[in-house]
Amino acid sequence: MNGHTKFQAERVSRLNPYVPGEQPRDRDYIKLNANENPYPPSPAVLQAVLQTLRDNPMATARYPDPDSLDLKKAIASLLNRTGGVLARAVVAGGAVSPSPGDALGFEVTPEMIFCGNGSDEVLSFVFYAFFDGDRPLITLEHTYSFYPVYGLYYGIPLKAVPLTPRWQVDVSGVAEAAGAADSGVILPNPNAPTGIALSREEVRGLLRRCPPDRAVVIDEAYADFGGESCLGLLPEFPNLVIVRTFSKSLSGAGLRLGYAVASGELCRVLTQVKNSFNHFPLDALTQRAGIAACSDPAWYAANAAKIASERDSLAAFLRDRGWLVLPSSANFLFTQKPGHSGRALYGRLRDQGILVRRFDIPGIEDFLRITVGTAAQMAALKEALG
Ligand SMILES: *Cc1c(COP(=O)(O)O)cnc(C)c1O
Repeated sequence: MNGHTKFQAERVSRLNPYVPGEQPRDRDYIKLNANENPYPPSPAVLQAVLQTLRDNPMATARYPDPDSLDLKKAIASLLNRTGGVLARAVVAGGAVSPSPGDALGFEVTPEMIFCGNGSDEVLSFVFYAFFDGDRPLITLEHTYSFYPVYGLYYGIPLKAVPLTPRWQVDVSGVAEAAGAADSGVILPNPNAPTGIALSREEVRGLLRRCPPDRAVVIDEAYADFGGESCLGLLPEFPNLVIVRTFSKSLSGAGLRLGYAVASGELCRVLTQVKNSFNHFPLDALTQRAGIAACSDPAWYAANAAKIASERDSLAAFLRDRGWLVLPSSANFLFTQKPGHSGRALYGRLRDQGILVRRFDIPGIEDFLRITVGTAAQMAALKEALG
Protein backbone atom coordinates (compact mmCIF):
# COMPACT_ATOMS: atom_id res chain seq x y z
CA MET A 1 0.00 0.00 0.00
CA ASN A 2 1.35 3.41 -0.91
CA GLY A 3 1.57 6.07 1.77
CA HIS A 4 1.38 9.78 1.15
CA THR A 5 2.24 12.77 3.31
CA LYS A 6 3.02 16.40 2.66
CA PHE A 7 6.52 15.68 3.94
CA GLN A 8 7.53 13.34 1.17
CA ALA A 9 9.95 14.34 -1.55
CA GLU A 10 8.41 14.89 -4.93
CA ARG A 11 10.19 11.87 -6.42
CA VAL A 12 8.32 9.49 -4.12
CA SER A 13 5.02 10.06 -5.92
CA ARG A 14 6.57 8.73 -9.13
CA LEU A 15 7.29 5.32 -7.57
CA ASN A 16 5.18 2.21 -8.13
CA PRO A 17 6.46 -0.39 -5.64
CA TYR A 18 6.73 -4.09 -6.45
CA VAL A 19 4.11 -6.42 -4.94
CA PRO A 20 5.63 -9.83 -4.11
CA GLY A 21 3.75 -13.13 -3.78
CA GLU A 22 1.86 -13.34 -0.47
CA GLN A 23 3.63 -14.74 2.59
CA PRO A 24 0.49 -15.57 4.61
CA ARG A 25 0.77 -16.32 8.32
CA ASP A 26 -2.90 -17.20 8.92
CA ARG A 27 -2.86 -20.81 7.73
CA ASP A 28 -0.40 -23.49 6.71
CA TYR A 29 -0.77 -23.27 2.95
CA ILE A 30 0.97 -25.42 0.40
CA LYS A 31 2.94 -22.48 -0.86
CA LEU A 32 3.32 -22.52 -4.64
CA ASN A 33 3.21 -18.78 -5.23
CA ALA A 34 6.73 -17.33 -5.01
CA ASN A 35 8.92 -19.79 -6.92
CA GLU A 36 10.81 -20.66 -3.76
CA ASN A 37 12.65 -23.98 -3.58
CA PRO A 38 10.62 -26.60 -1.68
CA TYR A 39 13.78 -28.28 -0.36
CA PRO A 40 15.97 -27.05 2.52
CA PRO A 41 19.55 -25.93 1.89
CA SER A 42 22.43 -28.40 2.08
CA PRO A 43 23.33 -29.49 5.63
CA ALA A 44 26.68 -27.80 4.92
CA VAL A 45 24.91 -24.41 5.12
CA LEU A 46 23.51 -24.96 8.61
CA GLN A 47 26.83 -26.32 9.79
CA ALA A 48 28.80 -23.37 8.38
CA VAL A 49 26.54 -20.80 10.04
CA LEU A 50 26.57 -22.59 13.42
CA GLN A 51 30.31 -23.11 13.27
CA THR A 52 30.94 -19.48 12.37
CA LEU A 53 28.94 -18.34 15.39
CA ARG A 54 30.59 -20.88 17.71
CA ASP A 55 34.21 -20.61 16.59
CA ASN A 56 34.28 -16.91 15.91
CA PRO A 57 32.00 -14.99 18.27
CA MET A 58 33.35 -11.75 16.78
CA ALA A 59 31.97 -12.68 13.35
CA THR A 60 28.91 -10.52 13.85
CA ALA A 61 30.67 -7.88 15.96
CA ARG A 62 33.00 -6.94 13.12
CA TYR A 63 32.02 -5.58 9.73
CA PRO A 64 31.87 -8.28 7.07
CA ASP A 65 34.12 -8.42 4.01
CA PRO A 66 32.64 -5.61 1.86
CA ASP A 67 33.76 -7.31 -1.33
CA SER A 68 32.69 -10.88 -0.43
CA LEU A 69 35.92 -12.18 -1.94
CA ASP A 70 35.67 -15.75 -0.59
CA LEU A 71 32.06 -15.91 -1.72
CA LYS A 72 33.01 -14.72 -5.21
CA LYS A 73 35.62 -17.48 -5.41
CA ALA A 74 33.02 -20.03 -4.32
CA ILE A 75 30.44 -18.80 -6.86
CA ALA A 76 33.00 -18.82 -9.69
CA SER A 77 33.94 -22.38 -8.79
CA LEU A 78 30.25 -23.43 -8.64
CA LEU A 79 29.62 -22.01 -12.12
CA ASN A 80 32.72 -23.71 -13.52
CA ARG A 81 31.55 -27.03 -12.06
CA THR A 82 27.91 -26.78 -13.23
CA GLY A 83 28.05 -24.64 -16.37
CA GLY A 84 25.16 -22.69 -14.86
CA VAL A 85 22.55 -25.48 -15.22
CA LEU A 86 22.29 -27.52 -12.01
CA ALA A 87 19.46 -29.73 -13.27
CA ARG A 88 21.78 -31.26 -15.89
CA ALA A 89 25.06 -31.23 -13.93
CA VAL A 90 26.81 -34.60 -13.86
CA VAL A 91 27.47 -35.97 -10.37
CA ALA A 92 29.97 -38.82 -10.27
CA GLY A 93 31.80 -40.06 -7.17
CA GLY A 94 31.28 -36.78 -5.30
CA ALA A 95 32.64 -34.67 -8.19
CA VAL A 96 30.33 -32.41 -10.17
CA SER A 97 30.88 -31.34 -13.78
CA PRO A 98 28.78 -29.64 -16.45
CA SER A 99 26.90 -31.83 -18.87
CA PRO A 100 28.88 -31.67 -22.16
CA GLY A 101 26.48 -29.19 -23.78
CA ASP A 102 26.74 -26.85 -20.78
CA ALA A 103 30.58 -26.72 -20.55
CA LEU A 104 31.62 -23.05 -20.54
CA GLY A 105 34.79 -23.26 -22.64
CA PHE A 106 36.53 -20.74 -20.40
CA GLU A 107 37.02 -20.21 -16.68
CA VAL A 108 34.81 -17.85 -14.69
CA THR A 109 37.10 -15.92 -12.30
CA PRO A 110 36.17 -14.10 -9.06
CA GLU A 111 36.81 -10.74 -10.79
CA MET A 112 33.85 -11.56 -13.04
CA ILE A 113 31.44 -11.89 -10.10
CA PHE A 114 29.58 -9.07 -8.35
CA CYS A 115 27.51 -9.93 -5.24
CA GLY A 116 24.49 -8.18 -3.77
CA ASN A 117 21.57 -8.46 -1.37
CA GLY A 118 19.39 -10.62 -3.57
CA SER A 119 19.44 -10.34 -7.33
CA ASP A 120 16.81 -7.62 -6.97
CA GLU A 121 19.48 -5.38 -5.44
CA VAL A 122 21.98 -6.47 -8.09
CA LEU A 123 19.43 -5.53 -10.77
CA SER A 124 18.96 -2.15 -9.11
CA PHE A 125 22.73 -1.50 -9.32
CA VAL A 126 22.73 -2.73 -12.92
CA PHE A 127 19.99 -0.23 -13.86
CA TYR A 128 21.90 2.58 -12.16
CA ALA A 129 25.29 1.59 -13.57
CA PHE A 130 24.48 0.94 -17.23
CA PHE A 131 21.33 2.80 -18.31
CA ASP A 132 20.52 6.48 -18.70
CA GLY A 133 17.20 8.27 -18.80
CA ASP A 134 17.82 9.64 -22.30
CA ARG A 135 16.72 6.51 -24.18
CA PRO A 136 14.38 3.60 -23.53
CA LEU A 137 15.69 0.38 -22.06
CA ILE A 138 14.26 -2.49 -24.12
CA THR A 139 12.43 -5.25 -22.27
CA LEU A 140 9.49 -7.62 -22.80
CA GLU A 141 5.75 -7.14 -22.53
CA HIS A 142 5.03 -9.93 -20.03
CA THR A 143 8.13 -10.22 -17.91
CA TYR A 144 9.54 -9.74 -14.42
CA SER A 145 7.53 -6.90 -12.92
CA PHE A 146 10.46 -5.46 -10.96
CA TYR A 147 12.01 -3.98 -14.12
CA PRO A 148 9.38 -1.22 -14.52
CA VAL A 149 9.65 -0.53 -10.78
CA TYR A 150 13.37 0.24 -11.15
CA GLY A 151 12.65 2.16 -14.35
CA LEU A 152 10.47 4.58 -12.36
CA TYR A 153 12.92 4.68 -9.45
CA TYR A 154 15.84 5.71 -11.66
CA GLY A 155 13.92 7.67 -14.29
CA ILE A 156 14.81 5.20 -17.06
CA PRO A 157 11.99 4.79 -19.60
CA LEU A 158 11.24 1.20 -20.58
CA LYS A 159 10.03 -0.02 -23.96
CA ALA A 160 8.27 -3.40 -23.75
CA VAL A 161 8.36 -5.55 -26.89
CA PRO A 162 5.24 -7.76 -27.21
CA LEU A 163 5.61 -11.54 -27.02
CA THR A 164 4.61 -13.59 -30.06
CA PRO A 165 1.06 -15.07 -30.16
CA ARG A 166 2.57 -18.27 -28.74
CA TRP A 167 4.09 -16.36 -25.80
CA GLN A 168 7.65 -16.63 -27.15
CA VAL A 169 10.20 -13.83 -26.99
CA ASP A 170 10.22 -11.96 -30.31
CA VAL A 171 13.99 -11.90 -30.77
CA SER A 172 13.85 -9.84 -33.97
CA GLY A 173 11.46 -7.37 -32.35
CA VAL A 174 13.82 -6.92 -29.39
CA ALA A 175 16.88 -6.49 -31.63
CA GLU A 176 15.08 -3.97 -33.86
CA ALA A 177 13.87 -1.93 -30.88
CA ALA A 178 17.36 -1.88 -29.38
CA GLY A 179 18.91 -0.88 -32.71
CA ALA A 180 16.31 1.83 -33.41
CA ALA A 181 16.81 3.47 -30.01
CA ASP A 182 20.54 2.67 -29.76
CA SER A 183 19.80 1.25 -26.35
CA GLY A 184 20.34 -1.67 -24.01
CA VAL A 185 18.18 -4.69 -23.27
CA ILE A 186 17.03 -6.55 -20.16
CA LEU A 187 15.18 -9.84 -20.23
CA PRO A 188 14.93 -12.98 -18.12
CA ASN A 189 15.92 -16.30 -19.66
CA PRO A 190 13.86 -18.40 -19.07
CA ASN A 191 11.30 -15.60 -19.14
CA ALA A 192 9.04 -15.07 -16.13
CA PRO A 193 6.13 -15.59 -15.75
CA THR A 194 5.91 -17.62 -18.97
CA GLY A 195 8.79 -20.03 -18.16
CA ILE A 196 9.72 -20.18 -21.85
CA ALA A 197 13.47 -20.17 -22.57
CA LEU A 198 15.52 -18.95 -25.49
CA SER A 199 18.37 -21.21 -26.55
CA ARG A 200 21.93 -19.97 -26.17
CA GLU A 201 22.14 -19.68 -29.96
CA GLU A 202 19.04 -17.47 -30.02
CA VAL A 203 20.57 -15.18 -27.38
CA ARG A 204 23.83 -15.11 -29.34
CA GLY A 205 21.85 -14.05 -32.42
CA LEU A 206 20.18 -11.31 -30.39
CA LEU A 207 23.50 -10.05 -28.99
CA ARG A 208 24.97 -9.90 -32.50
CA ARG A 209 22.16 -7.60 -33.58
CA CYS A 210 22.13 -5.33 -30.50
CA PRO A 211 24.21 -2.12 -30.22
CA PRO A 212 27.63 -3.36 -28.99
CA ASP A 213 28.16 -0.30 -26.79
CA ARG A 214 25.03 -0.86 -24.68
CA ALA A 215 24.64 -3.41 -21.93
CA VAL A 216 22.47 -6.47 -22.55
CA VAL A 217 21.27 -7.99 -19.28
CA ILE A 218 20.13 -11.61 -19.16
CA ASP A 219 18.41 -12.45 -15.86
CA GLU A 220 19.08 -16.15 -15.27
CA ALA A 221 17.05 -16.52 -12.06
CA TYR A 222 15.69 -19.84 -13.39
CA ALA A 223 18.47 -21.11 -15.69
CA ASP A 224 19.47 -23.89 -13.27
CA PHE A 225 16.19 -25.74 -13.89
CA GLY A 226 17.04 -26.85 -17.41
CA GLY A 227 17.29 -23.99 -19.89
CA GLU A 228 20.63 -23.05 -21.46
CA SER A 229 22.85 -20.64 -19.56
CA CYS A 230 24.43 -17.78 -21.51
CA LEU A 231 27.56 -17.74 -19.31
CA GLY A 232 29.47 -19.29 -22.22
CA LEU A 233 28.79 -16.15 -24.31
CA LEU A 234 30.64 -13.81 -21.92
CA PRO A 235 34.06 -13.94 -23.68
CA GLU A 236 32.39 -13.07 -26.99
CA PHE A 237 30.27 -10.12 -25.77
CA PRO A 238 31.89 -7.55 -23.45
CA ASN A 239 28.48 -5.83 -23.08
CA LEU A 240 26.80 -8.94 -21.63
CA VAL A 241 25.69 -8.92 -17.98
CA ILE A 242 24.22 -12.11 -16.51
CA VAL A 243 22.29 -11.85 -13.25
CA ARG A 244 21.67 -14.92 -11.09
CA THR A 245 20.33 -15.67 -7.63
CA PHE A 246 20.54 -18.11 -4.72
CA SER A 247 16.78 -17.67 -4.16
CA LYS A 248 15.44 -20.35 -6.48
CA SER A 249 17.80 -23.22 -7.30
CA LEU A 250 19.98 -22.79 -4.21
CA SER A 251 17.19 -22.81 -1.59
CA GLY A 252 18.28 -19.37 -0.39
CA ALA A 253 15.37 -16.94 -0.82
CA GLY A 254 15.59 -16.01 2.84
CA LEU A 255 19.32 -15.34 2.69
CA ARG A 256 19.00 -12.53 0.11
CA LEU A 257 21.94 -13.37 -2.07
CA GLY A 258 22.28 -12.61 -5.76
CA TYR A 259 25.12 -11.92 -8.16
CA ALA A 260 26.05 -10.66 -11.58
CA VAL A 261 28.56 -12.32 -13.90
CA ALA A 262 30.22 -9.99 -16.38
CA SER A 263 33.65 -8.74 -17.44
CA GLY A 264 35.93 -7.45 -14.68
CA GLU A 265 35.49 -3.98 -16.18
CA LEU A 266 31.71 -4.04 -15.74
CA CYS A 267 31.97 -5.60 -12.27
CA ARG A 268 34.22 -2.72 -11.17
CA VAL A 269 31.52 -0.25 -12.26
CA LEU A 270 28.90 -2.18 -10.27
CA THR A 271 31.22 -2.11 -7.25
CA GLN A 272 31.53 1.67 -7.58
CA VAL A 273 27.74 1.96 -7.53
CA LYS A 274 27.42 -0.42 -4.57
CA ASN A 275 30.04 1.52 -2.60
CA SER A 276 28.09 4.72 -3.18
CA PHE A 277 24.97 3.18 -1.67
CA ASN A 278 25.80 0.45 0.89
CA HIS A 279 29.32 -0.77 1.43
CA PHE A 280 28.15 -3.99 3.11
CA PRO A 281 25.11 -5.43 1.39
CA LEU A 282 25.92 -9.00 2.50
CA ASP A 283 26.21 -9.79 6.20
CA ALA A 284 28.90 -12.11 7.55
CA LEU A 285 26.59 -15.09 8.08
CA THR A 286 25.03 -14.88 4.64
CA GLN A 287 28.48 -14.85 3.08
CA ARG A 288 29.37 -17.99 5.04
CA ALA A 289 26.07 -19.64 4.10
CA GLY A 290 26.59 -18.81 0.42
CA ILE A 291 30.10 -20.27 0.42
CA ALA A 292 28.80 -23.45 2.05
CA ALA A 293 25.97 -23.76 -0.49
CA CYS A 294 28.50 -23.51 -3.34
CA SER A 295 30.51 -26.30 -1.73
CA ASP A 296 27.70 -28.84 -2.21
CA PRO A 297 26.48 -28.59 -5.82
CA ALA A 298 25.48 -32.29 -5.77
CA TRP A 299 22.75 -31.52 -3.19
CA TYR A 300 21.24 -28.74 -5.26
CA ALA A 301 21.69 -30.56 -8.57
CA ALA A 302 19.64 -33.49 -7.24
CA ASN A 303 16.89 -31.10 -6.07
CA ALA A 304 16.85 -29.17 -9.36
CA ALA A 305 16.55 -32.43 -11.30
CA LYS A 306 13.66 -33.56 -9.05
CA ILE A 307 11.91 -30.24 -9.58
CA ALA A 308 12.38 -30.44 -13.36
CA SER A 309 10.90 -33.93 -13.38
CA GLU A 310 7.91 -32.94 -11.18
CA ARG A 311 7.38 -29.95 -13.48
CA ASP A 312 7.15 -32.14 -16.57
CA SER A 313 4.82 -34.57 -14.81
CA LEU A 314 2.51 -31.74 -13.66
CA ALA A 315 2.52 -30.25 -17.18
CA ALA A 316 1.44 -33.60 -18.66
CA PHE A 317 -1.27 -33.98 -15.98
CA LEU A 318 -2.69 -30.54 -16.75
CA ARG A 319 -2.56 -30.97 -20.54
CA ASP A 320 -4.41 -34.28 -20.21
CA ARG A 321 -7.20 -32.34 -18.50
CA GLY A 322 -7.46 -29.64 -21.13
CA TRP A 323 -5.27 -26.96 -19.59
CA LEU A 324 -3.05 -24.79 -21.78
CA VAL A 325 0.47 -25.14 -20.34
CA LEU A 326 3.31 -23.04 -21.73
CA PRO A 327 6.51 -25.10 -22.21
CA SER A 328 8.49 -24.29 -19.07
CA SER A 329 12.23 -24.52 -18.46
CA ALA A 330 11.82 -23.02 -14.99
CA ASN A 331 10.59 -24.19 -11.56
CA PHE A 332 7.03 -23.06 -12.29
CA LEU A 333 4.28 -23.55 -14.85
CA PHE A 334 2.26 -20.78 -16.46
CA THR A 335 -1.09 -22.31 -17.23
CA GLN A 336 -4.68 -21.55 -18.02
CA LYS A 337 -7.88 -23.59 -18.21
CA PRO A 338 -9.86 -22.39 -21.24
CA GLY A 339 -13.32 -21.15 -20.24
CA HIS A 340 -12.34 -20.56 -16.59
CA SER A 341 -11.38 -17.30 -14.96
CA GLY A 342 -7.96 -17.18 -13.34
CA ARG A 343 -9.42 -15.46 -10.29
CA ALA A 344 -11.94 -18.29 -9.73
CA LEU A 345 -9.32 -21.03 -10.14
CA TYR A 346 -6.97 -19.20 -7.79
CA GLY A 347 -9.78 -18.87 -5.21
CA ARG A 348 -10.77 -22.53 -5.40
CA LEU A 349 -7.18 -23.65 -4.85
CA ARG A 350 -6.77 -21.21 -2.01
CA ASP A 351 -9.90 -22.58 -0.33
CA GLN A 352 -8.25 -25.98 -0.47
CA GLY A 353 -5.11 -24.66 1.19
CA ILE A 354 -3.00 -24.25 -1.95
CA LEU A 355 -1.55 -20.88 -2.76
CA VAL A 356 -0.56 -20.06 -6.35
CA ARG A 357 0.14 -16.75 -8.08
CA ARG A 358 -1.97 -14.84 -10.53
CA PHE A 359 -1.65 -11.41 -12.09
CA ASP A 360 -4.25 -8.70 -12.66
CA ILE A 361 -2.59 -7.82 -15.95
CA PRO A 362 -4.64 -7.62 -19.18
CA GLY A 363 -3.77 -10.53 -21.45
CA ILE A 364 -2.59 -12.87 -18.68
CA GLU A 365 -5.35 -12.40 -16.09
CA ASP A 366 -6.63 -15.95 -16.57
CA PHE A 367 -3.26 -17.64 -16.15
CA LEU A 368 -1.99 -19.18 -12.94
CA ARG A 369 1.70 -19.33 -12.16
CA ILE A 370 2.24 -22.51 -10.18
CA THR A 371 5.57 -23.12 -8.46
CA VAL A 372 6.76 -26.72 -8.71
CA GLY A 373 7.11 -28.22 -5.24
CA THR A 374 7.94 -31.61 -3.76
CA ALA A 375 6.34 -34.82 -5.03
CA ALA A 376 3.98 -34.75 -2.02
CA GLN A 377 2.94 -31.14 -2.70
CA MET A 378 2.35 -31.95 -6.38
CA ALA A 379 0.23 -34.95 -5.42
CA ALA A 380 -1.91 -32.70 -3.20
CA LEU A 381 -2.22 -30.17 -6.03
CA LYS A 382 -3.27 -32.84 -8.53
CA GLU A 383 -5.82 -34.12 -6.03
CA ALA A 384 -7.22 -30.61 -5.52
CA LEU A 385 -7.45 -30.08 -9.29
CA GLY A 386 -9.03 -33.48 -9.91
C1 LIG B 1 12.93 -14.34 -8.26
C2 LIG B 1 13.48 -13.48 -9.36
C3 LIG B 1 14.49 -12.55 -9.11
C4 LIG B 1 14.86 -12.07 -7.74
O1 LIG B 1 15.40 -12.86 -6.92
P1 LIG B 1 16.06 -12.40 -5.56
O2 LIG B 1 15.31 -13.16 -4.54
O3 LIG B 1 15.97 -10.92 -5.39
O4 LIG B 1 17.46 -12.83 -5.73
C5 LIG B 1 15.05 -11.88 -10.17
N1 LIG B 1 14.60 -12.05 -11.42
C6 LIG B 1 13.60 -12.89 -11.70
C7 LIG B 1 13.13 -13.03 -13.09
C8 LIG B 1 13.00 -13.61 -10.67
O5 LIG B 1 11.97 -14.39 -10.93
